[in-house]
Amino acid sequence: MVKAEELREQLIELDKKHFIHPTSSLKQQHEQGAPFIFTKGEGVYLTDITGKRVLEGMSSLWNVNIGYGRKELAEAAREQMENLAFTNSFSSMSNEPAIRLAAKLAEIAPGNLDAVFFTSGGSESNDTAYKLVRYYWKLKGRPEKKKIISRKKGYHGVNIGATSATGISPFQEMTTSHAPDFLHVEPSSSAALLECIDSEGAETIAAFIAEPIQGAGGVNMAPDGYFREVREICSKHNILFIADEVITGFGRTGKMFACEHYRVVPDVMLVAKGITSGYIPLGAVIVTDTIHRELIDLSQGVLLHGYTYSGHPTACAVGLKNLEIMERENLVENSRLMGEKLFEGLKEIEQEIEIVGEVRALGLIGAVEVVHPTEKKRFSELVAPKVSAEAAKRGLIVRTVGFEGMDTVVFAPPLVINENEIKEMVAILKASLKAVQESVL
Ligand code: PLP
Repeated sequence: MVKAEELREQLIELDKKHFIHPTSSLKQQHEQGAPFIFTKGEGVYLTDITGKRVLEGMSSLWNVNIGYGRKELAEAAREQMENLAFTNSFSSMSNEPAIRLAAKLAEIAPGNLDAVFFTSGGSESNDTAYKLVRYYWKLKGRPEKKKIISRKKGYHGVNIGATSATGISPFQEMTTSHAPDFLHVEPSSSAALLECIDSEGAETIAAFIAEPIQGAGGVNMAPDGYFREVREICSKHNILFIADEVITGFGRTGKMFACEHYRVVPDVMLVAKGITSGYIPLGAVIVTDTIHRELIDLSQGVLLHGYTYSGHPTACAVGLKNLEIMERENLVENSRLMGEKLFEGLKEIEQEIEIVGEVRALGLIGAVEVVHPTEKKRFSELVAPKVSAEAAKRGLIVRTVGFEGMDTVVFAPPLVINENEIKEMVAILKASLKAVQESVL
């Protein structure tokens, strides 16, 4: 039998040669190989091929909300696959898991967000929404309403439309050409949105899109009142408001959807990630009953937008089981309660560690901002990646954000995390920050 270390070496060589990794440094992968090859997950922990166990402080990519190793989801997928693994939803064909999941999403989504278009992930949900809102205005005799306003530091995915909406420059600069009719405004000022509408003309704008909490841009929260103001501005100017809840949906912030914190109902809500806790790819665009009815009344012929996997029965069966588990185990409430514990721990870190400028958290999404303690600004080189490397050595996975002037450690553990695991997470974070502080000051 090949020993674990030998197998690891073999896999790393194959990985270097054949696997182009998403959002990764190709050079670093080529030179250093994969830092972890994971083989097993249970609760909030992952184990790699050498037997090393780490606390997954990121729920992978902010998505494994119900934690790892859920046999019930495997069972739901197996049962659906054995009966009917796949059938498409084009030409009005349907299947029970997709129908039931659409109805379930309508039940749990705020207000009259009642009708669902399925995708396979967040980027597809974004591009679908841009097309749907433009289609909506076109049907209403306003084809010139086509611009999409998004926020700087916002992340909406990597398809060409989603990249164009993303307000993080390195993602934009990765490619040489963008989709037209996308505009970006300052993220924390409703006045900035208003100015943009005034200068462009509301008659040219289809929608405004925002994440309730910017995730990949550094876990940035808008100031109090912001979302109610932008909701009002959009309504007043006949601009649709799209909430991108791809990260924040399904309990991440201590409410089922983050919009609920602000008591705002968007016209369109985008979800993915936590809808299946990452067990299988799935996303959705949820629109209000009003929009749905207008689309039905005004449309003629076929809605020429659809993915092969829109309404995938196996993905939807897994989504349904995932939501059932979230409800049965009160995971939204656990997110709120454990989020409070996490925030207490972060506040202690803020007081004790000099290089910590600010800490933020809402439910189980949070960030630690690294700054020079006397200069009160970023170090000349990025320090947060050193912190995440130290944390990984000590058994905790977190991520970092190093663009747009940020030097930030971000985290979003599974919603099943308990108090001891929160303590472990905070202790490792603190020890890692301390070790890095000693090396940089
Ligand atoms: N929207 C937001 C807010 C996201 O955070 C992401 C991914 O991180 C996306 C969209 C894109 O989702 P996906 O990677 O599933 O295409």
